Amino acid sequence: MINMKIAYNLLILSILVVCIWFVYVSVDSKAYYRKIYRGILWAAVLMYLNRLLAVSMEQDLISYGEWMLAAERLVHYFLTLAIYTLYAYFIFCLVGQFHYYSRKRKIAFWSVNLAVNVLLITSPWTHAIFYVEDGVAYHGKLFFILILTRGIYALLATVYALMKRKLMIKIFGQSIILLAVFAAIQVTQFLICHDETMYYSTLIVNIIIFLLTITMVEFYKDSTTELLNKKAFRQFIDREIGKPGNEAVYLIKLKNYEYLRDNCYEPSVMVLVRQLAEYMKEYSMLSSIYYFEDGKFGIVVRQKDRFDENTFLDRLKERFCVPFELNGASINLTLFVAVLDVRNGKINKDNFYRYFAVCDGLKYRSNELIEVVRSDSFGIDELQRYRNIEDAIERALAEHEFEMYYQPIISTQTGRVVSAEALIRLTDRLMGFVSPEEFIPISENNGKILEISEYVIDSVFRFVKENDIAAMGMEFVEMNLSAMQCMDKNLTEKLQYYIHKYDIDPRRINLEITETATNFDEHRLKEQLLDIKKLGFTFSLDDYGTGYSNLVRVLEYPVDVIKLDKSIVWAAFTDRDSFVTIKNLISMFHDVRRKLVAEGVENEEQMITLKELGCDYVQGYYYSRPVPKTAFIEYTKSINN
Ligand code: C2E
Ligand code: CA
Ligand code: CA
Repeated sequence: MINMKIAYNLLILSILVVCIWFVYVSVDSKAYYRKIYRGILWAAVLMYLNRLLAVSMEQDLISYGEWMLAAERLVHYFLTLAIYTLYAYFIFCLVGQFHYYSRKRKIAFWSVNLAVNVLLITSPWTHAIFYVEDGVAYHGKLFFILILTRGIYALLATVYALMKRKLMIKIFGQSIILLAVFAAIQVTQFLICHDETMYYSTLIVNIIIFLLTITMVEFYKDSTTELLNKKAFRQFIDREIGKPGNEAVYLIKLKNYEYLRDNCYEPSVMVLVRQLAEYMKEYSMLSSIYYFEDGKFGIVVRQKDRFDENTFLDRLKERFCVPFELNGASINLTLFVAVLDVRNGKINKDNFYRYFAVCDGLKYRSNELIEVVRSDSFGIDELQRYRNIEDAIERALAEHEFEMYYQPIISTQTGRVVSAEALIRLTDRLMGFVSPEEFIPISENNGKILEISEYVIDSVFRFVKENDIAAMGMEFVEMNLSAMQCMDKNLTEKLQYYIHKYDIDPRRINLEITETATNFDEHRLKEQLLDIKKLGFTFSLDDYGTGYSNLVRVLEYPVDVIKLDKSIVWAAFTDRDSFVTIKNLISMFHDVRRKLVAEGVENEEQMITLKELGCDYVQGYYYSRPVPKTAFIEYTKSINN
């Protein structure tokens, strides 16, 4: 019997040691709730060590005085209460937003624990909770308060977690229920049979359930922000959207994210993102906040939540008025907020992700600090258009309705056509003309871009095959590659296949890539581009000046030509600073042996100025709009001969 009890405690201690080991090696993040869990584990270890002492005293294994018995009891009661309090604290932090509770609530939470501890510590004199007499420990008159307090903490936390379980990931809700069941068993046992062994066993089971839970929770947490991740979001949406009680889903995007990611030291960008996550939590007072990476947050609001959109947005605005600190520099940030109203069933399980994608793809229209867009305002129309375009793409692929147009690119030195940009056109029989600016992103979203690009490659290569472009005085034809195409791992092989199919010289084709392609795996992109370059193709960097081009990074890519986007070209004619910028850009790129094309040249004045600035080539309506290939060939012949 003697050894049984000791062995039992040693067993539990060793389980705890394993738990502690596990928690330290397996979860490396510094999340707050995990620290609390570690606190619980350590408290449990101390408690069982104390139990060992108690058992040894019980069995007369060691000699002890009354003071030691009192100390043992004191430590025991203190630690059991601490475990329950920490358990509640843990749940409140994990499920809710303990940090942002009002001071009153925080004080209320801790003061109960404190008050009972005061009763406990003074017990040797007041005999309130316990006392020791003739070598035996007895319960004091107020002992029930200790038990009650433990129960209240446990109950509060469990009820709170159950109330919020819909917002949490499934596994978490389940383990809370499991915990509640074990807690109930614990209490009943204690009340009915006073069986301590059983009591301690259920406690350890709870601690293990906890461990498993927080390990599982890891899969649903974003490691940078400690917020729930995309996976958790999907789980929530799949389970909850369409059910009553849900009010709105917010998609919040940091507009400047790409710029930051491309230009700033990564760890400091992460610090910034973490800071934003804190604001989201603090300002919304909600715990249902998700981080989807790339500077995108999601917030789910339910009817029961005490969430006020105006307050939330006002507080964000207040914060975003003030520049953010990044690596010692201060930087202005702006947000895009899309609000999806999920109350009336218009947005339901079947169309949620479509709506979400539409929101995500919406163009930024204003320069406000916080740009807010609502699903009911773009709603049906934009969604319908999105779907119609998806259908039109489908039709165009099936019925070969896509067409390639060509727009000449002219040398400022000679005035001759030196190349052309191939631009895709879609004229749908139902929708009429649809701009590539609209259908390319949609096709990237639903994956059709790869089929479209197959068509583009085929027609451009055939064009080069059928026309001796060198004889026409042209160096090459420029073909656009979308970001997603660039990352298509079969791109190199595809291009190779078409070289053979049409038996053409790859030097006659130049591929236009954009910086957005670098959003993907940069390392792989560079390798892929180098492989393609080895085949003989050259590259242009398209849309330079939109977004936030980084000169140094541009040079890391094997591009020979930089295409200045029409927006900065136009800006140069209305704004002095942009003019100087363009001027310097041109000379800078010349210094590193890159050629420049200015897009969007619409009049003679622009052409002359760009020529004076030393820009090598120009492209724009001033010369020709994109036209079908026969018209293009005619045009080129008339200019070049
Ligand atoms: P981009 O690559 O920047 O193409 C240049 C766009 O500027 C073309 O629009 C062209 O028509 C337009 N543009 C040229 N000169 C002028 C001018 O003087 N004034 C004005 N206002 N506009 C001018 P487009 O054809 O509507 O194409 C839009 C975008 O769609 C392209 O922008 C490109 O990103 C994408 N795209 C077009 N064709 C293809 C393609 O075959 N494959 C891929 N992946 N993307 C394509
Ligand atoms: Ca282009
Ligand atoms: Ca462009």
